[in-house]
Amino acid sequence: MRSWSKVVLSMLFSVLVTLLAMLGLSILLNEVIPAAFWVFAALCPALLSGPISFILVQQAEANQRLNRQLLATQAVLRTQADIDHLTGAFNRAAFYRQAQGYAQAADACVLLADIDHFKAINDRHGHAAGDQALRIVARTLQAALRPNDVMGRIGGEEFAILLAAMPVELGMAIAERARKAIANLEVRTADGAPIEVSVSIGVARLRSGMPIDHALAEADSAMYAAKRSGRNQVRSAA
Ligand code: GH3
Ligand code: MG
Ligand code: MG
Repeated sequence: MRSWSKVVLSMLFSVLVTLLAMLGLSILLNEVIPAAFWVFAALCPALLSGPISFILVQQAEANQRLNRQLLATQAVLRTQADIDHLTGAFNRAAFYRQAQGYAQAADACVLLADIDHFKAINDRHGHAAGDQALRIVARTLQAALRPNDVMGRIGGEEFAILLAAMPVELGMAIAERARKAIANLEVRTADGAPIEVSVSIGVARLRSGMPIDHALAEADSAMYAAKRSGRNQVRSAA
């Protein structure tokens, strides 16, 4: 409803109530009230309630606007709090929250990807180059996923991925495709020096109702087996 119609409605209401009170009084006292009194009784509430309801309506509308802004800001902040700003992936807490929802539904698959010798990348090329490698790895992993899959940066150079409704064999194939894509990347520092980037990935089944921690621990063991076997490879949990 428009603001002016709210004001008019409120004026009409006050006039009507006053006139009804006058009518009641006239009947009660059995007296005929002169026309001038009726006009006066209609004008007074109209003149009083007009500006008052105008101010109240303006205030109520300003409150509603502020409330809408507050809700929008809250939604933006909530999204920002869930995102790792370096890579754009979910942060650890948000990943666990999102992934646990899927863990209640159908069988899924979890991947744990850890960048190989990342400390050496930082040491050799500097922290900024390390950050750049992190961003590119995250982007390449994300590109291998479907919109429903969930990816989070759960440690410095560790990414967890939940492949929703996915058998482990297909999960292995997706992990292998992502590993290959990362190994084939041409990453360079700002002054053009090539950076060797690869990941080791562990894959585990997340059975329906299973806590996500459990499956991630299995994927973690598989990932460490991949590290021990020479890195830049995919292993599945036994
Ligand atoms: P491995 O192949 O066994 O995984 O060896 P690694 O060097 O990758 O593993 P390690 O745990 O020894 O080192 C991880 C490094 O990641 C150490 C830490 O300084 C670096 N790191 C963690 N977070 C960030 C970050 O946000 N940016 C950069 N540039 N480096 C980070
Ligand atoms: Mg690590
Ligand atoms: Mg590492």
